[in-house]
Amino acid sequence: MAVPKKKTSHRRTRIRRSHDGLTVPNLVACKKCGEMVLPHRACANCGYYGDKKVLDTESPLAKKLKKKEAGENDQ
Ligand SMILES: [Zn+2]
Repeated sequence: MAVPKKKTSHRRTRIRRSHDGLTVPNLVACKKCGEMVLPHRACANCGYYGDKKVLDTESPLAKKLKKKEAGENDQ
């Protein structure tokens, strides 16, 4: 088994970890709902990209209930 020949000094450890810092993502407010989103990405909250709706944000349960309600209205 390979064994380190010398103890890693506190300084060496700190130098190695100088690149481990986390960065804060660049966020912009959604023009439609005001939620903070990554730039050039569709908003996960309202499903809009610019002024177009590109994502279906309705939950599967809400869709099911809606479908059920529509079915009851037909009869
Ligand atoms: Zn939005």
